[in-house]
Amino acid sequence: QAKLVGRNTAIFYTPVLETKILRRRHVEESVLLGLAQNRFELHFQPLIEPKSRRVEGFEALLRLTDANGVSISPTEFIPVAEECGEINVIGDWVLKEAIRIAADWPEHIFVSVNLSARQFESGTLVGRIIDLLETHDFDAKRLELEITESLLIDYEDPVTDQLAALRVLGISLAMDDFGTGYSSLGYLWKYNFDKLKIDRSFVSALCEKGCKSREVLDTIVMLGHKLNMKVTAEGIETAEQADAFNALECDHIQGFFYGRPMPVSELAPYLIGNTVLPLIPQEAYPKLV
Ligand code: C2E
Ligand code: MG
Ligand code: MG
Ligand code: MG
Repeated sequence: QAKLVGRNTAIFYTPVLETKILRRRHVEESVLLGLAQNRFELHFQPLIEPKSRRVEGFEALLRLTDANGVSISPTEFIPVAEECGEINVIGDWVLKEAIRIAADWPEHIFVSVNLSARQFESGTLVGRIIDLLETHDFDAKRLELEITESLLIDYEDPVTDQLAALRVLGISLAMDDFGTGYSSLGYLWKYNFDKLKIDRSFVSALCEKGCKSREVLDTIVMLGHKLNMKVTAEGIETAEQADAFNALECDHIQGFFYGRPMPVSELAPYLIGNTVLPLIPQEAYPKLV
């Protein structure tokens, strides 16, 4: 079954392609209507200092629910939002919400926000962030921005100045998903980042027998520290992994084991200064006691 598109182009619709096109249209529609219909929400995942196991910050993670009440993963809708340009208004909303919400937290807790490359295109990002910090009387030192290296690959030059300006304000810059790209090291010495977030693929390999990920992790942590960066490990899911990380000198750890991304309504127990994670019966994890 073929449909004619234009005069000389025939696209052959296979069932798989058709499903993909319909899905893509659905996601795009959900993205475009999301803000107007209040379908976006921020969840927050705790970032833990491993020695004390106390919460020092939260990463803001965007959630989208479609008109049927079904949640769409950010790994699916963020690329769509980037393609259709909507990421700019959405990203602006994320920054505004994250700062507004974090302004209610105790002052020792920071918030980390993910940015997309396109948010640097217009050149208005730095000014906008200054405005938001002032409006909410929020200390720039409590704001962290997470950037993936693909951003630097695509937009190298114009982005550099903006990143530098953000750092001058006192905002921390974190390189997200470190180790997944092909030139991570190249970017590390070229730009000033305050933090490295090690991709969770390294963590999931950690406890596999005969795997050298432990040595690799050790080395990344050392490298980060040598370059005056803090190091975060993402994706700690099990007590075994949490245990293995006690020996590594990470500055922050993050993962389902310590806390999942949660709506604001569930954060209260995590905001109390003396809360030690995980918030589950200690006897379930004898190794950690
Ligand atoms: P990311 O920035 O690397 O965020 C970490 C992802 O790992 C989150 O997925 C989080 O839920 C997940 N995660 C955390 N701990 C664990 C664990 O122990 N096990 C496993 N399996 N996963 C864990 P999520 O929320 O689905 O977000 C996926 C990606 O979407 C993010 O990766 C980020 O790149 C992007 N994203 C999310 N929110 C935003 C946003 O507001 N703006 C932009 N530009 N991108 C966002
Ligand atoms: Mg992130
Ligand atoms: Mg990450
Ligand atoms: Mg990621």
